Amino acid sequence: MEQPADRVPAPGRLALVQEFVNSADLEEGTDQLADVATAAGWLRRHHPDARHRLDEDQRRRLIDVRESLRSVLQVHNGEAVDQPASARLDGLLAGVRLRPAVTAGGGALVPVGDGVDGFLAVLTSAIVEATIAGTWERLKVCRDDECRWAFYDHSKNARGAWCTMRVCGNRAKARAYRDRQRATARR
Ligand SMILES: [Zn+2]
Repeated sequence: MEQPADRVPAPGRLALVQEFVNSADLEEGTDQLADVATAAGWLRRHHPDARHRLDEDQRRRLIDVRESLRSVLQVHNGEAVDQPASARLDGLLAGVRLRPAVTAGGGALVPVGDGVDGFLAVLTSAIVEATIAGTWERLKVCRDDECRWAFYDHSKNARGAWCTMRVCGNRAKARAYRDRQRATARR
């Protein structure tokens, strides 16, 4: 998946979550889950070991998960908690199954099931892993309302707000500048 400008993707399996959220480019108006055939193709590319019998209901479920996730990730960028989005995500993932596996190497939550349930189980286990690793809170959604692209904040102080300073950050600065100019002109 192409990253805007020079952004490095999220580490480990969190990159899958990032790619899933970015399967829609809101600014360009493109969506890789736009219909059943293209969504099935996307799933096969990103989750090859599962059989996907995708239908329209499952496709809509994927979109619902994706957009609820996007809202949840906005919190990592300083936005208020979106309670309805969190509740919706809870409901959408309620059927997902993970089973514990313990070896000398440690414990893990292994995804169970195939199709969309299997994919969502993989997604959920990736989020659990990232939470433990402390990387989850660095997966953010761009503060630009038209963009809302998921990016991984590699900055030292984890204060990054835009997917890429070159585009959205500069656009925000230009907007602030125009607002200041307007305010000055009104005086
Ligand atoms: Zn952006």
